[in-house]
Amino acid sequence: MAEPAQNGPASERCEGPSLRVAVIGAGMAGILAAIKLQDRGIECDVFEKGDGVGGTWRENTYPGLACDVAAHWYTYSFARNPEWDSLMAAGEDIRAYFERVANDFGVTQRTRFASEVTELHYRDGGWDLECTTGYQGRYDFVIAATGVLHHPNIPRFDGLETFEGAVFHSARWNHDVELNGKRIGVIGTGSTAAQLATALVPRAERFDLFQRTAQWVLPRDNVPYTEEEKARFRKDPEALEALIRELRAKTLEGFATAVIDADSPELAAIEQICRENLDTVKDPDLRHRLTPDYRVACKRLVISSTFYDAIQQPNANLVTSPIQRIEPAGVRTADGVLHDLDVLVLATGFLVDRFIRPTRVIGRHGTDLDDVWAEGPLAYLSMSVPDFPNFFLLNGPNSPVGNFSLVEVAQHQIEYIMQLVDGICRGDYSEVSATPGALRRFETERREAARKTVWVTGCDSWYLDKDGVPASWTFSYDRFVDETAAPRMEDFETQ
Ligand code: NAP
Repeated sequence: MAEPAQNGPASERCEGPSLRVAVIGAGMAGILAAIKLQDRGIECDVFEKGDGVGGTWRENTYPGLACDVAAHWYTYSFARNPEWDSLMAAGEDIRAYFERVANDFGVTQRTRFASEVTELHYRDGGWDLECTTGYQGRYDFVIAATGVLHHPNIPRFDGLETFEGAVFHSARWNHDVELNGKRIGVIGTGSTAAQLATALVPRAERFDLFQRTAQWVLPRDNVPYTEEEKARFRKDPEALEALIRELRAKTLEGFATAVIDADSPELAAIEQICRENLDTVKDPDLRHRLTPDYRVACKRLVISSTFYDAIQQPNANLVTSPIQRIEPAGVRTADGVLHDLDVLVLATGFLVDRFIRPTRVIGRHGTDLDDVWAEGPLAYLSMSVPDFPNFFLLNGPNSPVGNFSLVEVAQHQIEYIMQLVDGICRGDYSEVSATPGALRRFETERREAARKTVWVTGCDSWYLDKDGVPASWTFSYDRFVDETAAPRMEDFETQ
């Protein structure tokens, strides 16, 4: 199996022309990009629409927020954290980690907050950037680290605006609203809703979970780390690296193969575990209603050892009759029942094809990214778009998603991008972007590989684009590691 990205190739100092780079977004990937640029002595400005760093971990503050990817694997290779309390970390601890790294590496200090980039325009060999604050700047290179899951999907439920209780999306939590002893409704059954159920059932008078589609749930105990273990990780970084290699191998050997090969024994094994987990639900009717009618891992797997327990509590209610409309008092379902509620949470996911948009991005010869992406966002190796020179995306279109460490994914990508920047530093070229042919070939192969994946075995999910093709990395994870090891310069146009 390919090795994880560590610190990448030893960073060269950029001795060539003095470059200015704009990094858009101060989440996990933007912080990483800024650190890597600083390593090479390259000037960068980070633009962040919010008021703090941390991206998804700043925006999401819902009760029960956690990361179901192993915490030690979900850290930068150059800033490990021996202090994680348990296998999977709580959201606020992850946010604190990214804040600390951003402060320690001087990224916070160079971030312009409340500065949404409205326009990027490539003219005369450079990017003109405009911001909501009125700031205008010119940059040689742009790295879009704007994330995937940050434009809330708010479905158009009839009567939503008439609801007299509190209503908000899971990623826009209203902390002024009292939850204890209240009648709480959650719409959705994704990873977010499962975490919400675990946190809110014990606090609510009644908890209604509105399920449109049942989810497969993979159990995973959140084993705490002892003080002795933490002390060992502090003292012995190699012991920590060994643990991370093990955590990583466990996910990649099973899960990474399972999702790209629906006929694999790895998927059958995961299927078996999920079915056994479902069998722990005691009431046959509830178990039946919680049983999905599609293959395990077709939708992103919910990882939880607590969800089934929560939904079996006497004050929890799984509602499977479709939502008809929202009324002032609550949610009316198709069976005629009105579910009275004080609080309604929309755990309804995100608009996942937005990426850097709504920023207007105009490339070479006035090419508008919105037009190029009219049929859906595409980028060569998820990072480069033809005719958009010196513009790169982190965790961009068709990047690996799901139950991987997106920190590690972004690290592979930034090392690749930095090698292209190094070419500019050395004076090999001043402009670089993927060729249309390279993107076409990549996309053809990606679509072909998609046919074997579990994502196309008959479910609807946010992985699928409007044509039903998974908008994700459909090859092996090893191929991702290999492809991002070093740019094949014949796939790039340079000037
Ligand atoms: P999601 O997986 O997209 O789930 C959205 C839920 O809302 C689905 O159950 C969906 O039902 C339901 N829904 C949407 N529109 C609806 C409508 N009109 N009527 C009824 N139900 C509707 O969203 P999410 O749970 O926020 O998770 C999104 C992604 O965030 C995850 O897949 C994961 O990548 C990431 N995440 C990760 C973690 C973690 O621990 N690492 C935690 C939370 C989230 P259908 O299934 O029928 O469409």
